[in-house]
Amino acid sequence: MTEAARPPEVDRVAASRKAVAARRARASLKRDIAMRVVSPQEVLRRAHADASSPAGTLRVTEFLTSLPAIGRGKRDRILEDLQISPVKRLGGLGARQRGALADWLDTRFRESVPRPGRSSLVVLAGPTAVGKGTVATHIRQNHPDVMLSVSATTRAPRPGEEEGRHYYFVDDAEFDRMIANGDLLEWATVHGTHRYGTPRGPIDRAISEGRPVLLEIDMQGAFQVRATEPRATLVFLLPPSWDELVQRLVGRGTEDEEERTRRLRTARAELAAQGEFDHHIVNDDVDQAARQVVDLMQA
Ligand code: 5GP
Repeated sequence: MTEAARPPEVDRVAASRKAVAARRARASLKRDIAMRVVSPQEVLRRAHADASSPAGTLRVTEFLTSLPAIGRGKRDRILEDLQISPVKRLGGLGARQRGALADWLDTRFRESVPRPGRSSLVVLAGPTAVGKGTVATHIRQNHPDVMLSVSATTRAPRPGEEEGRHYYFVDDAEFDRMIANGDLLEWATVHGTHRYGTPRGPIDRAISEGRPVLLEIDMQGAFQVRATEPRATLVFLLPPSWDELVQRLVGRGTEDEEERTRRLRTARAELAAQGEFDHHIVNDDVDQAARQVVDLMQA
């Protein structure tokens, strides 16, 4: 390049900053695909909607190897079968190639179809630190008609937690008794430590009074509720991105490094099982997420 044709220093610095930001955004998107914070079909749709977005500028090769259980060998065979050049970026695929890739994704990664209608029993689950508690609290404060179930737990109260409002704090013997009496709609050992369970009585009463009920419980509990109450609607709360989830967990500072690692491992497994849920709501904005949950409830 001649001196005259070279862009001024400030432009070059800005361009290189932009390139770094774009690379970071693509790396973050690849983590989201790998952790299943976003479905591969959704990434393909984003790429088509905006070819200059992180999804649009992602190479097909990198897209495929971000998917679970796809290594380089498999990736190359898939591209050959679909007749897609490995130098292509997702946003640069032609209509035929995009269609072929979408069909192939549909055969391997099931996208859940939202369950139609409203339910008087809604279960809110999702990975650690996604903000289930914040969304539930927001609903309690703004929708007094919704009955928020109070769980029993064997863990000790944290500062500021009140008996009967946040939890019923019980010892192991009492928890055993509740199980034996059939008092719990579901229960589970969460994060491998303490037991948590949903008392059945208050829920039956609220439903018979026509009040919608919200359970904010873990994933194992959600599946138990589905088994005993097939009419329950299961909602999975998603973080805006995997990086954001890690940030929220680190930011709240309530767990040490070892506990954080354990919770992130559980989060990864939970994200992988989200296909069983009826609805997926991204917790980008608490107000909006809460509104979406309430919209699924039958008054
Ligand atoms: P924490 O100890 O932070 O209050 O709650 C830990 C986890 O326990 C959260 O993921 C929460 O959703 C879950 N949890 C709270 N109550 C129940 C319950 O009644 N049943 C089940 N299965 N999980 C619960």
